[in-house]
Amino acid sequence: MSSNISLPKFCEYCGASFIAKQVRTQYCSHACASRAYKQRKRESMVLNALTNEINKQKGSSSKAKSSTLPLQIGNHVNLRDKDFLSVIEASILLGVSRWTIQRLIKQEKIFASKIGRRTIIT
Ligand SMILES: [Zn+2]
Repeated sequence: MSSNISLPKFCEYCGASFIAKQVRTQYCSHACASRAYKQRKRESMVLNALTNEINKQKGSSSKAKSSTLPLQIGNHVNLRDKDFLSVIEASILLGVSRWTIQRLIKQEKIFASKIGRRTIIT
């Protein structure tokens, strides 16, 4: 590529007309080139921030779609507030089957006591 060409161009940053020495030259001066570069960088940062924001909104809207989730959390909070749990309640709280709970009681990994036929977990 020859550098001895004279190409009339308009600066892409300030719009001033200038004679380019190279075909790929886009700006009238180094100052405009670096300013345009900074502007592009800023714009891409804004774009990134916007993309992040959109992704966040997408994430929260997909959470909102599963309407059963807040209900489950509500149950968990209530169960946690109780001092004693039945086997069933403990299995819901821990997200395991009632048989797992009963096995854990047998292995004495969970403290449990019996009131009549009911097993109560502290
Ligand atoms: Zn310029």
